[in-house]
Amino acid sequence: MSDTAATGADWRTIPPQPLPDVDSQGYWDATAAGHIAIARCVECRAWVHPPIERCSACGGPLAFEQISGNGVVNSFIIMHRASVPGQGDAAHAIALIDLDDAPGVRLTGRITGDPSLVRVGDRVTAHLIDVVGGTYRVPEFSRT
Ligand SMILES: [Zn+2]
Repeated sequence: MSDTAATGADWRTIPPQPLPDVDSQGYWDATAAGHIAIARCVECRAWVHPPIERCSACGGPLAFEQISGNGVVNSFIIMHRASVPGQGDAAHAIALIDLDDAPGVRLTGRITGDPSLVRVGDRVTAHLIDVVGGTYRVPEFSRT
């Protein structure tokens, strides 16, 4: 099989399209619609991420709620070589982001721009970037 058989693009140079399961389908459907949504318990209102079948606090059902994507850098690393196809060979920061709208939830994502400028505590906002081969998008963060 060639490198371009599945998508028409070289898999070594593009980010991979996510492969949702039954629990994460709502998260990925939200990205396809252009926003970020986090699972939240319908009964006790706890945020649950990554999404699972039932609330980890009370066992209640979960529903996805849209969030702003604004947050704060909790921690980060600087990647000097690409570990995911499509992220290029240039150094870049990958961070854990504490979300303003979902206390206790952290999203992982790349931070745009010069990685040497990233600091713990930086304010960031998410934007979704297209991924070839499907409609799902992945979050990326910019310092504000
Ligand atoms: Zn609950």
